[in-house]
Amino acid sequence: MPAANGLGLHRSTRAEIDLDAFRFNTRALRNCLNPGVRLMAVVKADAYGHGAQPCAEAALSAGADMLGVGILAEGIELRHCGIDAPIHVLIGILPDEIDDLLRYNLSTTLCSEPLAEAIAKKAAAHNRRADVHIKVDTGMGRLGIDWEELPAYLEFLYGLKTLNVASVFTHLSSADEDADYTQLQLQRMRETIDLLERKNLPCPPVHCANSAGLLNFADSQYNMVRLGIALYGVVPPAPQGHAPRHTPELKPVMHWKTRVLRINALPAHSYLSYGRRFITRRDSRIAVLPVGYADGLNRALSGNMEVLIGGRRAPQVGTICMDTCMVDATDLPEVREGEEVVLFGKQGNEVITVEELSARYNTIPYETLCGVGKRVPRVYLP
Ligand SMILES: *Cc1c(COP(=O)(O)O)cnc(C)c1O
Repeated sequence: MPAANGLGLHRSTRAEIDLDAFRFNTRALRNCLNPGVRLMAVVKADAYGHGAQPCAEAALSAGADMLGVGILAEGIELRHCGIDAPIHVLIGILPDEIDDLLRYNLSTTLCSEPLAEAIAKKAAAHNRRADVHIKVDTGMGRLGIDWEELPAYLEFLYGLKTLNVASVFTHLSSADEDADYTQLQLQRMRETIDLLERKNLPCPPVHCANSAGLLNFADSQYNMVRLGIALYGVVPPAPQGHAPRHTPELKPVMHWKTRVLRINALPAHSYLSYGRRFITRRDSRIAVLPVGYADGLNRALSGNMEVLIGGRRAPQVGTICMDTCMVDATDLPEVREGEEVVLFGKQGNEVITVEELSARYNTIPYETLCGVGKRVPRVYLP
């Protein structure tokens, strides 16, 4: 029996998680790495909606060297699950979170002097050294010290003996969209490293690449890559006119499914759902599905998505409700109540990808995956 979280198996709507596919992807991506390059598996936001603990364990078993989480609480949760691998808090922390950072042996992103001093002081009180990863802003404009200020900042940090500068890193803003800008960011990182050498400052390990950085750009690997979306089987696009550097075959990990709750026979000219935004043009068989926007099926998809039933596509019709939505099954006369429906994933020979569904409401697979609601049990395939 497959394992499931929270609501267990007592729901017809579920997200099936294929951990074999996840491990396969992890290994396939590792095979893109130069010798000695380490892999940080990014499992923030409950592993992009796939379940932090199972994915963290699967990533480590498939050769990831460390884990990246978004926020401190996610790191603490993984420690409570008994995971003792290195865990890095990517967005960094506030001063009142330092005690927990040290207690749970997590590392943090660092880009300020007062926070560095505060961590160093607390580490001294705990009688240990704290791992910190220094973030450099090469063009993302979010977190990080200005790249030209790195030498001075490092000199200051090297004076704080209870800090261990575990790495210097930057984040690429457009490695799936803009080759020139990405090259500029990578160029700034190279210049930053040169600057350290010229000043005779020891250079810590360096990392720059997210999934799109690794797959699309040579010379982005340095000492480590931080991979998220690709582990979950989504290949980020390459910038237009730019040939990707690596093209591993990746497998989708999440398959979002539900079952037909009821089939309604409605005559022609019947209104459907809130706001009467759909009217049947013909005598129709409308299948009601027990999944709605409370499950993460975004209301903006109303009337603009398809599902798979019996291996064929059927259009969703009418406004998506909180707990339900409707699809027009008139052209699929064999459909029965209780039958499996796929929101994204494979059924028979037909596939709806999370990329397709996301494009339909003008977002990216990241948001669709981590938007699958907590009411949807994750069912781990054996
Ligand atoms: C989320 C995140 C990543 C992973 O990005 P993907 O595009 O999912 O591979 C890497 N680095 C940082 C700093 C992140 O926040």
